[in-house]
Order: sequence, then structure tokens, then C-alpha cells
Amino acid sequence: MKHIWEPAAYGPEPIRDCWWADTVTPGDWPALEGDTTTDVAIVGAGFTGLSAALHLAEAGINVTVLDAQHPFWGASGRNGGFNCLGGAKASHDEIAKKFGKSEMYEYAKAERAAVETVGHLVDRLDLDVDRHSDGETMLAHRPKDFEHMRKRAGHIKELYGVEPTVIPPEELTQAGLNGGFHGAVTNPLGFALNPRKYARGLAHAARDAGAAIHGHSAVTSIEPDQGGYRLHTASGSVRAKKFIIATNGYSSDNLPPWMAARYLPTQSSVIVTRPMTQEELTAQGWTSYQMCFDSRHLLHYFRLMPDNRMLFGMRGGLSHTENTEAAIKKKIRADFDAMFPAWRHVETPHYWSGFVCISRDLLPYAGPIPGMEGGFAAFAYHGNGVSMGSYSGTILADLVQGKTPATPYPAPMRHTPRRFPLGRFRRLLMRPAYLQYALHDL
Ligand SMILES: Cc1cc2nc3c(=O)[nH]c(=O)nc-3n(C[C@H](O)[C@H](O)[C@H](O)COP(=O)(O)OP(=O)(O)OC[C@H]3O[C@@H](n4cnc5c(N)ncnc54)[C@H](O)[C@@H]3O)c2cc1C
Repeated sequence: MKHIWEPAAYGPEPIRDCWWADTVTPGDWPALEGDTTTDVAIVGAGFTGLSAALHLAEAGINVTVLDAQHPFWGASGRNGGFNCLGGAKASHDEIAKKFGKSEMYEYAKAERAAVETVGHLVDRLDLDVDRHSDGETMLAHRPKDFEHMRKRAGHIKELYGVEPTVIPPEELTQAGLNGGFHGAVTNPLGFALNPRKYARGLAHAARDAGAAIHGHSAVTSIEPDQGGYRLHTASGSVRAKKFIIATNGYSSDNLPPWMAARYLPTQSSVIVTRPMTQEELTAQGWTSYQMCFDSRHLLHYFRLMPDNRMLFGMRGGLSHTENTEAAIKKKIRADFDAMFPAWRHVETPHYWSGFVCISRDLLPYAGPIPGMEGGFAAFAYHGNGVSMGSYSGTILADLVQGKTPATPYPAPMRHTPRRFPLGRFRRLLMRPAYLQYALHDL
């Protein structure tokens, strides 16, 4: 496989101390053995692949899902669990400039539909996912950011048709949001969940609906075969009429070659505290269970979970070695201590990292693979794949069946991702980008 990061980033070490692994075991997903046939083969069993598999299997289509490790091994089993709006790093203004205002509104509709897709799935499948938080709260890390957020609050109504709540600085303590911020705006859409419980629920539901799901089955090549494709693994192969690539940040530049340089994996890192006492929460003045992020470009995301553990995440390192991981672990703890000084003594036994995925145009993609009739892919959710990955899976399930998606499918999601410059060395582009973001955040 042609991965562009150090091999260790694709191994077990980054999730050795992942908190979610304490709450959900991987389960038994036997490897593909021998040669089989299916209607649709799906590569990758995260939110994207599992959502596509579920919707296809429910439509009566024969589906085979192959994952190199096990379902939800990738980002879907190690993220912050924010089911929130997003999916693009491009701003709505940039989207409007490129695709026109009506497509910007369509994109906002898709964002909202994506968040609601997760809610509907959780309800319909009756999943216990430790759900909490009424929407998402953005906290200003500078007074000027609050002024900007307050002025832009009207856009939330315009874009999503919901009423935001503006929380001025003097009301933050009362709201249980005391972390040295300068005001906040809450968008009422979205909620937080345990991502592994959600992904496990999707996997079980897809399997119950008839999908064959195989772990330990890394796809090594995809070749044309009798008007369809044959996907090879170490211990077998699947002949499929159609296939879906759902590997996001864990993609390979040769699977298929069209993917080369169209995605850029970047790391995100998380720490989780031990459960805190009521006294400890009160001492900091943080008693809210809202999922939150700050107004930085290189943002922090954090939420107090139902068992009073604090989850705190931010960007990861620019490379993945023992030293860079140790440095990021130190940095994330230092940022946590600066935001929540009353919790300096609170241990954070859980640290992990994983890949989010960006595209050159800073937009997500869900659609056909040009030049490969019957091949489809969805990726590049820019750190918001709980909703956008689940949603893209539903879009691909429709496209694979030759249907026009019943839900919003705006031009920004249909726009074929361009290749990054520098090919397999494209990671080098991140250093100046991070530097620029860090300067903006001062
Ligand atoms: C630390 C962290 C925090 C995050 N926080 C949030 C958050 O709070 N909210 C949010 O919305 N998003 C968050 N994200 C992003 C989100 O997790 C991802 O966008 C989403 O999980 C992507 O889902 P996916 O199914 O497309 O890919 P993944 O879940 O990454 O799954 C890809 C799968 O493909 C498999 N695979 C790769 N190559 C092959 C191959 N050749 N053959 C077979 N299988 C293969 C891998 O084993 C993997 O299981 C976070 C990500 C990280 C890393």
C-alpha cells in the first residue's frame, strides 16, 4: 500500500490508550477466505463504509465490506464524538464564491441533513451511544472573536433555519463554561456521542441486514474483471459489479491510482481525564455537558462526558514518531492546563491520535471515480466525519443503485477533488499552513 505517513501512524500504537477501546471491544470479524462474488464491495468499515453498507443491504443489495483491521478501527472508532455541522474547511463565503449562493445554501442543507442522519440512525436502530449536549457551542478565545461571532450569529439562522443562542462573557460562569473565554454562541443542531458505540451499532445493523463484513482483509489491488472488478486481499478475493472506497485518512495512493494525491491525512490528538468529582468541576466553574470548540483556526474541541471525564482534542503532529507523539502529548496537556487551571492535578490516562482527511479545495467528496465505471469514493470531511461520513454513505448507497440522492447533494460535494502539488511529499504543505493558522490565532 502506498501510504504517505510513517508506518507507525497506521499501526496499533496511536490507539493503545484510547478511551473508547475501554468501552467497546472490536468484536469478531473474520477475514475473507477464498474467492467470492458480491454486488457491491466496500473498502473500509468506518462511518462511511458502514453507512453505505447498511443502506445498500436494507435495499436488498448484496454487499461485502472489507477492512484492513476491524470495523471502526480507523478514525470512526477514535474521534471526539462530535456529531456536528461541517465537513468542509472552506468557509460558506468561499463556497458561495466558487459555486454560487444557491449551492452554498444547498451545502448548508446537506450539513444539517448529515447531523440529522446520525440522529435518525441512532433512534431508528435504538443505539445506546451515551448521547449528550444540545447542539454545539463555539467559545471566543479573544474579545474580537466574540464580536465577530455575535455579528455572524444571524448567518446561522439564514444558513440552517435555527435560532442560535448568544452567551455574553459575563454569563459564561452561570452557563458552567468557565475556561477564560470571551463569550460564546450555541448552534442548537447536533449532539455528542460515543463514536465506537455508534459505529458498532452501524456494523451490527449492516450485518443483520445481510452485509458480509470482514476484518483483517486489507485490499491490496482492484482490477477489472468480467465487466466488474476483482478486489484482492492476502487470503482471498471478491468479484464485485461495483465498489466503494471508504478509507478517508487511511487511504493509499494506489487504491485505486485515481486517489493519488487527492487526499491529505492530517493528525488529530485527544486526551481524556479520569472521572472528576462535583467539587473539581465546581472549582473550575465548568459544569456544562455541551460539546464545545474554541474560535482558533487550529482549534481545541472539548466536552464533559456524562461520567464527568473531560475529553480534550486538538491538531496532532506533522510527523508520527515517538518523539513527535511525546511532544504533542505534552502540548495538548499544556493547552488543557492553560484552559482549565483548576484541573492541573487531574490525571489524563488516555491519549491517542488518528487521521482526519483534507482535500485541496477544502471540500468533502462523495461521488463516482472518474474513469472507473461502477467505482465510487467518499472522503475528506475535514474533521467532521461523524455526520458527513455517515451522510456520504447514504449518498453513495443511492448513487450505486443509480438513483438521484433523495437528500441534498450539493455541487461542493460533487466537485471532483483536485490533486495536491508535491505528490507523495504533499505533507510538506502542512508546515507553512499550520504556521499561518498559528499566527492568525495569536
Ligand atoms: C482524533 C480524532 C478526532 C476526531 N473528532 C471528530 C469529531 O469529534 N467529530 C467528527 O465529526 N469527526 C471527527 N473526526 C473525524 C472523523 O473521525 C472521520 O472523518 C471519520 O471517522 C471518517 O470515517 P470514514 O469511515 O470515512 O474513515 P475511517 O473511520 O478512518 O475508516 C477507514 C477504514 O479504512 C480501512 N482501510 C484503509 N485502507 C484499507 C484497505 N486497503 N483495505 C481495507 N480497509 C482499509 C481502515 O482500516 C479504516 O478502518 C476525528 C478524527 C480523529 C482522528
